[in-house]
Amino acid sequence: MDSKLPGTGTTIFAVMSALSEECDAINLSQGFPSFNPSQDLLDRITHYLNSGANQYAPMPGVPSLRHAIAAKVEQLYGRTIDAELEVTVSDGATEGLFSAIHAVVRAGDEVIVFDPAYDSYEPAVTLAGGTTTHLPLVFPDEDADFQIDWNRLEDAIGPKTRLIILNFPHNPTGAILSPADIERLADIVRDTSIYLISDEVYEHIIFDKADHQSLLRNDELWERSFIISSFGKTYHATGWKVGYCVAPPVLTAEFRKIHQWTCYAVITPIQLAIADYMQDTPHHYVELPVFYEQKRDRFCELVRDSRFDYQPAKGTFFQLLDYSNITDEDDVAYARRLTREIGVASIPISVFCEKPPPGRKLRFCFAKDDQILEEAASRLCQL
Ligand code: PMP
Ligand code: GLN
Repeated sequence: MDSKLPGTGTTIFAVMSALSEECDAINLSQGFPSFNPSQDLLDRITHYLNSGANQYAPMPGVPSLRHAIAAKVEQLYGRTIDAELEVTVSDGATEGLFSAIHAVVRAGDEVIVFDPAYDSYEPAVTLAGGTTTHLPLVFPDEDADFQIDWNRLEDAIGPKTRLIILNFPHNPTGAILSPADIERLADIVRDTSIYLISDEVYEHIIFDKADHQSLLRNDELWERSFIISSFGKTYHATGWKVGYCVAPPVLTAEFRKIHQWTCYAVITPIQLAIADYMQDTPHHYVELPVFYEQKRDRFCELVRDSRFDYQPAKGTFFQLLDYSNITDEDDVAYARRLTREIGVASIPISVFCEKPPPGRKLRFCFAKDDQILEEAASRLCQL
């Protein structure tokens, strides 16, 4: 068949998780916690399941959840938003990203992403008839810390540039944005009609007391932005696939035109339960950075005496380890070999890059119970 996505294979997350299972390995590849959501949240879902909340939710999301999201946005980022006109619950961040991309990208439009770029962006752009321009983040080896090269972005913008997609805290590098980055972005897009998608699914997983620089904080950027997030990361429930898109009314209206034809609506009892839980336990967000910072520190400490090099992640639940001291094998081959030979699965980061990235790095998910991290690290330390 004449494929619409000829360059696309099966996503690396499915590939590595399947290989991990086949090899009975410790799966630190695809990003998901080894622990459950809180019992309180699970009980609330059970309650709604048993009280008849089993039919279609409203297309934009249940009102109580949209209001809880709006309250959170106001509390954390100081922006008052309209839950009716500016919040849509999506089928995970994946559908949110797909619908936002399709809401703005037309045939022939150019979209800028930063490599390593999360793998769902480009196929959605291609399906919308657009083309993707990949700008590499500046790597530590080049004397910076996985930052956007703003001059390069300025040079890359042309008359066809329709959209820029950002993702901070960044998967897979763990990089974050500073307030100065936000100012620079605002300067660059000020006199353009470029839209922004900000994939902020790790908004609550940020370390060392840093503040998440949501695009929601900036008046100018907000006007042109779709902010995408996911409850999967925040509540240790990646399998629920519930996320949301916050965007100004005009953008939300276009977003919903696509959303209604991709999934129409999202699972009702879980939306209702999350809404109640958000209202009753707002401290969950406050505690999450420390919870994951301890996991990051534990994992880094466990691999300190290994032959891997690393800079501790600044956010997300992923840690990059550089294996240049061990082998010069390419990262896809090495990730497969480690899964087979020592039983630890990881994600090679070259698959997120148009051009091979400098260094030799694998991504390890540390959203795991300590015994799992300990066993994985002891195997990695033997290399
Ligand atoms: N964006 C990024 C950067 C992600 O890491 C993920 C998944 N972990 C998603 C989007 C998709 O989120 P969801 O599982 O809610 O669809
Ligand atoms: N976002 C997850 C990761 O980075 C994977 C999500 C998926 O499998 N689609 O590992």
